[in-house]
Amino acid sequence: MRVPEAAIRKTLADANLQLAIYTNTGRFKENRSKAVAAEVLPEYQELRTRAAAIKRHTLDFLDVYLLQFESAVEAHGGKVIWASTGEEAADFILKLAKERAASLIVKSKSMTSEEIDLNERLAHHELEAVETDLGEYILQLAGQKPFHIVAPAIHMTRNDVADVFTEKLGIERDTVIENQAMTARRVLREKFLAAGIGVTGANFLAADAGAVVIVENEGNARLSHSAPPVHVAIAGIEKLIPRVRDLGVFLDLLGRSASGQALTSYTSIVSGPKRAGELDGPEEFYVVLLDAGRTKLLADKEKRESLQCIRCGACLNACPVYRKIGGHNYPWVYSGPIGKVITPQFQGRGKDPWLPFASSLCGACAEVCPVKIDIPGLLLQLRREAVAADPADRLLFRAWAWLMTRPAMYGMLARIGLRFSGVEMGPLAAWRAERDFPAVPEKSFRALWKERKK
Ligand code: SF4
Repeated sequence: MRVPEAAIRKTLADANLQLAIYTNTGRFKENRSKAVAAEVLPEYQELRTRAAAIKRHTLDFLDVYLLQFESAVEAHGGKVIWASTGEEAADFILKLAKERAASLIVKSKSMTSEEIDLNERLAHHELEAVETDLGEYILQLAGQKPFHIVAPAIHMTRNDVADVFTEKLGIERDTVIENQAMTARRVLREKFLAAGIGVTGANFLAADAGAVVIVENEGNARLSHSAPPVHVAIAGIEKLIPRVRDLGVFLDLLGRSASGQALTSYTSIVSGPKRAGELDGPEEFYVVLLDAGRTKLLADKEKRESLQCIRCGACLNACPVYRKIGGHNYPWVYSGPIGKVITPQFQGRGKDPWLPFASSLCGACAEVCPVKIDIPGLLLQLRREAVAADPADRLLFRAWAWLMTRPAMYGMLARIGLRFSGVEMGPLAAWRAERDFPAVPEKSFRALWKERKK
């Protein structure tokens, strides 16, 4: 895939969209800075170090923790499904829906299900999947994909939402945010009560307790996993942490990094179906553990740290590129700096080779990452691999090396280059049109050196 230049230009030219992205990411960014400031959270850097160490350790022993997690889930009456591909994960949910005669599925907090196009696959089999996170619900009605990994409808204004609700729900146009939330609440309550299956994601999977941990602000994930008779949690295998008690470190960091909240409004720790004597909860509990490229990445010692990501979105809010081009110009569901790192690795490097190059390498992402992922370092690594894999680039650099070892030839070409440096030609003209260059000196370094020697 080529760089979606036309779409990016359209985003850049849309003043309302630019304002929405800039204001909303700016607010998150500022709130995060305040929430982790030394006078508010003096142990912030220590928490980051501990979180990174726990994640690194878990990835080093992932096979052990995955099996421990499976045993603990089964001990509580649940079942773990191992899915090596997105198709396998979706097929399990499809089969389950057919067996349980569930034609309506409510969903919440799951970028992983976005990753495997679960809604589209279910719709193909005439099953209705309804997103219940307010932002996701709005996007589903609007026929759009998430714009941001934490705040999926960050790009939409109250007027946009009013238009979508009027068109799709057939209600009178209302731009009051509270009323819009109440409308969604009214519609979704009916769906929660009628759904045969609730599908959620997971922020963490605690190996010792066999528990799925879901962090949210609206309570819709809690309804999704407790109201329908069947709960399916779908999560990438990298979501494991060794113990429930490790959660303290991550919960301290996640809300603060995402939105500046000391703690998100709801934290659910789900470890199995309803027990005997309990009034609420599902009768069946499944955890789909998704690989889909993760074990391949795990085997790559240099780049496996990208699996440490806890999807807080802080790197998106800090990124000068994301804050201009927004989330829909990225080719896959994960956008921003972490999207540039994991998309080529999960989807195969050949698919979007330009992605790791779409960065200024300013380092703002690494600075805010709560689990200390060296995103610029990973991008450089991916760039090196992309260049090494591209025959045209290889040829170019070989030619460059040849030229650099022939001073006379280099000098002659440099002189010619200086003479034509002001002439704009072909694609170079377009490339130069958006860049400021220092004035080209009249004499080359070699000429000046010669003069000085004299
Ligand atoms: S890479 Fe770091 S900052 Fe970005 S989403 Fe993941 S955890 Fe958050």
